[in-house]
Amino acid sequence: MSTTMDRDKAKFKARVHYWASKFEAHVTSVSVRPMRTKWASYSTAGRLTFDASLLELRDELQDYVIVHELLHFHVPNHGKLWKSLMRAHLGDYEKLGNELEKVVNNKALHRNR
Ligand SMILES: [Zn+2]
Repeated sequence: MSTTMDRDKAKFKARVHYWASKFEAHVTSVSVRPMRTKWASYSTAGRLTFDASLLELRDELQDYVIVHELLHFHVPNHGKLWKSLMRAHLGDYEKLGNELEKVVNNKALHRNR
């Protein structure tokens, strides 16, 4: 028997793989677990980790975190290129980012923000 948590996790991971193939990001593993200070992290080896509390957010906010992180496979910073890609795929991404910050304000997307 699968729990709601398992189903949400499977759905979230499917979204990650959907976006990863769209961006041709080399993802070797995706894990979802409680993280203390960050929403997400990735290693250059292609291992992505997402905070489990993302599972409680609505789809658009999940996509914001996923797309944000995956774009860093190609663009290491939050410069002009990164911003234009965020806008191209998510529309008004700044609004989503602000909404995310309000949900939990003690968590950064990652340390270099
Ligand atoms: Zn970032």
